[in-house]
Amino acid sequence: MSVLQKMSSAEAISLEDKFGAHNYHPLPVVLSKGVGVFVWDVEGKKYYDFLSAYSAVNQGHCHPKIVGAMMEQAQTLTLTSRAFYNDKLGVYEKYVTDFFGFDKVLPMNTGAEAVETALKICRKWAYEKKGIPENEAQIIVCENNFHGRTTTIISFSNDENARKNFGPYTAGFIKIPYDDIDALEKAITSSKNIAGFLVEPIQGEAGVFVPSEGYLTKAKALCEANNVLFIADEVQTGIARTGKMLAVHHENVQPDLLILGKALSGGAYPVSAVLAMDAVMNVIKPGQHGSTFGGNPVAAAVAIAALEVVKEEKLDENASALGQLFRDELNKYIATSSIVSLVRGKGLLNAIVINDNEESETAWNICVKLAEKGLLAKPTHGNIIRFAPPLVITEYQLLDCVGIIINTLRDFEK
Ligand SMILES: *Cc1c(COP(=O)(O)O)cnc(C)c1O
Repeated sequence: MSVLQKMSSAEAISLEDKFGAHNYHPLPVVLSKGVGVFVWDVEGKKYYDFLSAYSAVNQGHCHPKIVGAMMEQAQTLTLTSRAFYNDKLGVYEKYVTDFFGFDKVLPMNTGAEAVETALKICRKWAYEKKGIPENEAQIIVCENNFHGRTTTIISFSNDENARKNFGPYTAGFIKIPYDDIDALEKAITSSKNIAGFLVEPIQGEAGVFVPSEGYLTKAKALCEANNVLFIADEVQTGIARTGKMLAVHHENVQPDLLILGKALSGGAYPVSAVLAMDAVMNVIKPGQHGSTFGGNPVAAAVAIAALEVVKEEKLDENASALGQLFRDELNKYIATSSIVSLVRGKGLLNAIVINDNEESETAWNICVKLAEKGLLAKPTHGNIIRFAPPLVITEYQLLDCVGIIINTLRDFEK
């Protein structure tokens, strides 16, 4: 069968099932089109997208400005590799560093690659600038983190499913509880060999855990006092998702290494980046790190357009206002609910916790029902559902979605 032929959901699912590795467990919905906050399945049913490809599609599906930039560049020059200069990369590098207030950027493609890049820069800085003895650098990470799927990254995950039988693991990481400033202080002062602290400003995959107010400020101060790099993984929380351009901006914290991905391209193309000041970034010299596709002209053109859209459409302000409305509306319902215990989040990165245990199927069953009613969301755990629509959503659409969500949850009340 040609991929151009129309196919049913059942056919598409059975193809993936038979010929694709089973490394995901998708909801049984087969999508074939997206515009703004909406996606359509192959049978023509329309849905609100409340996942936004894990916050990659903050600017909405197929944003014309982003797609336009991509098409124009794709017809002109797609890839040179970094063996040569291209006329788009420098323009993007100036734009993105000005945008976020850093000296330099190192362009990569996926979030996990950008995390790996930040860890490598941090280690190199530790040996060459901080004077840590070779191979002894330690990087502090948090329990229940999610930073991607590479061998090194899963080495410091505590998700057994992500880790088991992928060893031997990369050494050099110390795990501490999230949102525990005393634990950070203890770990950071426990040794002279601490190079960095890698943290998600809000833990997304863990179930949208928002740390206590002041946590990031205090963590940054501890890092500064101990000459340790503060590394913010904003792959999911960045690009206006939480109501500010970066989630660290809620506390006016400037990371030493900033990791971006996902919505850096508006979901049009894999684009990730690490940003830093010269004192840190200049430890990387030719031949020491790179990627064939990193910084290609299409990625550069797409990322500029994607960031311009966020600014022009004030998506941070929309996320902030509509996120508050979303939590207010859900809280009214939760006051009388036996099935939902709470809603939490910032901006339009939110989650509800279902009154059931982590291994239960309830969240999954609710998501299946939500899909039937025209809204796509995905559990992050057995009892947690994340709600993260594209940030271009309007107040009218958001209230429509709140209606769908509450109606669906009511069907599950005992
Ligand atoms: C999604 C995500 C990553 C990994 O990004 P990929 O593009 O899937 O490799 C890393 N960190 C965080 C916080 C993420 O949400």
